[in-house]
Amino acid sequence: MFIDSHAHLEMSEFNRDLPDVVKRAADAGVGCIITVGTTLNDCRKALSIAARYEPVYVVIGVHPHEVKAIDEKTYDALRILAKNEKVVAFGETGLDFFRNLSPRDVQIRRFGEQLDLAEELDLPVVIHDREAHTETLNILKRWKGKKRGVIHCFSGDRAMARACLDMGFYISIPGPVTFPKSTRLREIVKDIPLERLLLETDCPYLTPEPHRGKRNEPAYVVHTARKIAEVKGISLDELANATSLNAKELFRLPIEIAR
Ligand SMILES: [Zn+2]
Ligand SMILES: [Zn+2]
Repeated sequence: MFIDSHAHLEMSEFNRDLPDVVKRAADAGVGCIITVGTTLNDCRKALSIAARYEPVYVVIGVHPHEVKAIDEKTYDALRILAKNEKVVAFGETGLDFFRNLSPRDVQIRRFGEQLDLAEELDLPVVIHDREAHTETLNILKRWKGKKRGVIHCFSGDRAMARACLDMGFYISIPGPVTFPKSTRLREIVKDIPLERLLLETDCPYLTPEPHRGKRNEPAYVVHTARKIAEVKGISLDELANATSLNAKELFRLPIEIAR
């Protein structure tokens, strides 16, 4: 069984055919999908999807692109949503200095606040870092929280991977690991201990080969898994099992994983 540890099923790209998307995931052996709301409204939509589909769990928080919209009511609203039993983590929070859709100083401030809120809610954190490796690491190092969480769509270098692992984080690898040019990412994957590795699609984005160029969906996490198993020189079953157990452990998922 595979777990897609980071999807965005609530995004409009899935409005038309969500039931088929969820079914194709189940048919491909994806037993669990963690969907990540990026705005308060999308967090609510994610929870309504999780209420309809048993294998779907939810991460709530405000994405760095969207933090400029946070106001005095946002965090109380998230505190209320966090009581839903399908909520398994807080995020994605972090920094995106690639697109800078929210000003950098606002991103940094809201990242710190959201880390503290995750700690208050006793939820693991899902960290987004794009072109902001140094700042992300510095903030995580200074954070007094329990440092339970995952660096999703890992794009840092070997030293950053080491630093994140040393702090106790899991590292999640997305579809681009299947691209011919991603040699550097595959080298890093070799180094990450199997017991700290997660799989993700980040769908509808980052579609792996052989579907590159089309919309991504949770069923395609199997292609990412196959490439990682090949890189690590282990069987697909072993990789699927280890990464699913990791996700179960991190997100405290109430599911059975057959060994
Ligand atoms: Zn992200
Ligand atoms: Zn995401």
